[in-house]
Amino acid sequence: MNLSQKILNISPSLTLEINESAKEMKNKGYNVLNFGSGETDYKTPDYIKFAAISAIEDDFTKYTAVEGIKELREAVCEFLEEDIGVSYSPSEIMISNGAKQSIFNALYCILNPGDEVLLPKPYWISYPELIRLATGIPVFVPTYEKDNFRLKAKNIKPFVTNKTKVLIINSPNNPTGSVYNENDLREIAELVLEHDLIVISDEIYGKFIYDKNQHISISSFGNDLKERTVVINGVSKTFSMTGWRVGFSAGPERLINAMTNFQSHSTSNPNSIAQKASLEALNNPCKNSFIQEMISDFSNRKNYLVNSLNNIKGVSCLPPDGAFYVLMKIKNFFGKKFNSETIKNSVDFSKILLTNYKVATIPGVAFGADDYVRISYSISLESIKEGVKRIADFVKKLK
Ligand code: PLP
Repeated sequence: MNLSQKILNISPSLTLEINESAKEMKNKGYNVLNFGSGETDYKTPDYIKFAAISAIEDDFTKYTAVEGIKELREAVCEFLEEDIGVSYSPSEIMISNGAKQSIFNALYCILNPGDEVLLPKPYWISYPELIRLATGIPVFVPTYEKDNFRLKAKNIKPFVTNKTKVLIINSPNNPTGSVYNENDLREIAELVLEHDLIVISDEIYGKFIYDKNQHISISSFGNDLKERTVVINGVSKTFSMTGWRVGFSAGPERLINAMTNFQSHSTSNPNSIAQKASLEALNNPCKNSFIQEMISDFSNRKNYLVNSLNNIKGVSCLPPDGAFYVLMKIKNFFGKKFNSETIKNSVDFSKILLTNYKVATIPGVAFGADDYVRISYSISLESIKEGVKRIADFVKKLK
């Protein structure tokens, strides 16, 4: 069958592919350590599950408003006020089937064919493809290890053209773990105003912040910025609810209305039961203690992982300020051999490590960063310890 050029231009997700191989090995009985995960290893809290059960028992099982139920949009407003200090009204909020759909809706409603979207690199795997599906052109803006992978206005400037319409910001960042500070964001905000850009600010890891870092949203820099920013967030990571598929967008009402129109013809409302569960996630008085416990656990894992990886000869990584990923530099091993196999790039490194040591990592090329592999520390400390040992054994064998 002849498929559309649109879909033929899209690459399959390397993250999903590695996770599938790791799962297959696990099913065959191997003790696989999966550092590839993009979701927390915590369970969805019971009070959230009970809210979903009640929604079913109460027959809350029909279509809802396309943009999501009003109570949930109100709860999102409160969440955003507390999280980033920006005041939204429910008419500026839209609920979708996960943050991914929120991003796609926004891109689709903003872009005309050929419009350019500035995308900091390394980037989350889905952004380039989402941009292309929405008929835009991704323009990659480098971020550098020496800057802790923080996006700098001076590095964006050379890439702005008269076709540039959108800047994507993702802080805390997947895959680098970088958290943008206020100074950098203020300079970026100036550039945004100067060139009349629209910002899509993906803040899905906003609660995953370590040490003295702070989650700051560019939309909090006054009305001019709020009016040209779409904030993306959701319950997936913060409340360990990736499977429930609830994300949200906050932005100017005109755009939110357009996105609602688009969603009404593509998927309609997000799942009614998941909306009630998300409402409980945002309103339950235990929410902050759940988040704090998880973040403190992730922080300990991160400290152990970073210290122990940096003790392995030939390997290095920066301590991440947020999210739950470490980018491990593996460039030193390019050209070296494991038995008879030569490692030429990050895919070779990941595949040989998985096949021979049963450790799953995501090749950096998936994020536009071939000198690295991404290690997720959404896995128990015991597994991290065992995984680091296996990585150390592996790289010792490379000649
Ligand atoms: N944005 C980033 C940066 C992510 O890493 C992810 C998931 O991995 C998403 C968005 C998607 O979130 P959701 O599962 O709510 O669609």
